[in-house]
Formats: sequence, C-alpha cells, structure tokens
Amino acid sequence: TKTIAIIKQKLAEEQVVVVVSALGGVTNMLIECSTKAQQGDTSFTQTLNEIKTRHSDTIKTLLSGIYKEECESYTEEVLAELRDILTGISLIRELTPRSLDLVSSVGERLSAYIIAKTIAQSGVDCEFLDARTVIKTDKTFGAAKVNFEKTDNLIQKKICNTSTLFVATGFIASTDDNETITLGRGGSDYSAAIFARAVNASILEIWTDVDGMMTADPRKVKKAFPLEHVTYAEAMELSHFGAKVLEPRTVIPAMSKNIPVIIKNT
Ligand code: ASP
Ligand code: MG
Repeated sequence: TKTIAIIKQKLAEEQVVVVVSALGGVTNMLIECSTKAQQGDTSFTQTLNEIKTRHSDTIKTLLSGIYKEECESYTEEVLAELRDILTGISLIRELTPRSLDLVSSVGERLSAYIIAKTIAQSGVDCEFLDARTVIKTDKTFGAAKVNFEKTDNLIQKKICNTSTLFVATGFIASTDDNETITLGRGGSDYSAAIFARAVNASILEIWTDVDGMMTADPRKVKKAFPLEHVTYAEAMELSHFGAKVLEPRTVIPAMSKNIPVIIKNT
C-alpha cells in the first residue's frame, strides 16, 4: 500500500518508470524451493504453497473485480509453470544456474504484475512490463552481463513516446535466445539504473528501508549518520565494501549519463 502511494504521488509530479523487486522474502523462498527440489525433498511444495498464499493475500488486499481476476489467473499460470519446473528439478535432481534463474525470476514477475494492476485499477493508464522483453544479456546465468546497446534500444522503443506508466520487473532479463536470466541478487536496483540510462532519466530514485548511505554500518557504529552527498566513485566504493543500501553495479549506468541517484526510505 505504501509503495502504491509513493508511485501515485510521483506520477502526479512527473513521468516515471517503476521498477520493482519481489515481495519481501520471496526470492529466498524460491531459491529454497529449488534446493529442496534438487535434493528430492518434496516439501518444496509446502514452500510453494506459502509463496502462493503470500501473493493471493496481497491480491486480496489490493484488488477487486476484473483486476483481481486478471491477477489471480496470471499468478496461477506463473505458479503452475513454476511447479512444473520444480518437479523437473526434483526428478532429475539437478539444479543448473539456468534453472535457478528461471525459478528465481518468478518473484518479480508476480510483484510487478500485481502492482501494475493495482495502479491500473485506480484509473491510471498503466501496464505491466516484463523486463525480459527489453533487457538483453550474455549467458552468464546468475550474474548476467547487460548488452547496453540492444537494451537501450529496446527500452526506448517500448517506453519513450507513450504516456503509459510502466511497472517493470527488476532483477530479470533474457539472453539472445530468449532464455530467462537474472542480474544477480539485489539486481533490481541495477535494473532501475538500466532503465534510467536508457530513457535518459532526470533522476533515479531507489526506495528502500534505510536512510541512505551512512558513514558506517549503523548496526555497528552508533554515531553513524547518513551522508548528504557522495560521488559516484565513493558510492561504488562504499557498496563494494559492504554498504548494503545500493547494489554496487547500480552506479555504473547512472554515471554513464550523469543521472543523480537518490536513496529514499519508504
Ligand atoms: N528479488 C531479488 C533479490 O532478492 C532482486 C532484488 O531484490 O533486488 O535478490
Ligand atoms: Mg529485494
């Protein structure tokens, strides 16, 4: 609900592209499902049911009528596909980086769809955007490298010259053979930066649950305080040395277009 409020407020001020992460904890649960399946542990279906409940509860809270129905059937379809993949993994007892990426892609596909429909329900011209159709990468499963030339083009074609608000999946992309791939854990920030670069955004806002880049880890250093400004280089350095607030690669696409990155606490 908070997320929706933030998006709507932004929307009133300027044109935006929204890039979302999975619902909290879902990516971890998906990974847990795959490792269980790999070990032939059939309790992966239990975890799968928890994932299902998380999403159907969210849908019930946010949506009604036709929008709710659309969300429910999309979720069902994606989760049925997921169940098949996990069954395959459990039969073969083999979990490749490729299948792990396919499984972990589900969280963002569901969350972005639900958020897109929730905004559409309130009368805004809003569409779900599966980033696999616009972010192209090499075949490094689990940590894909982006082909910026192709990606910039595809994003521009899709997004520029329309007033539609897009809610895109973070974290996921596709190879030239249209295989599903991920940008690595925490990759949604990076996805947002990729979009920002492609559309030449005036600002990249990262909404998170901390107050920004701090002088030190606030859990360890009591007197740590948020830094007002840091350079791109400093931001990269801080995130490489463990500041969890920003995925280290996020800075690169932003820096390439001199786009300010603003970290905000939801
Ligand atoms: N959902 C993915 C993860 O948990 C990507 C992200 O949250 O940025 O790693
Ligand atoms: Mg996340």
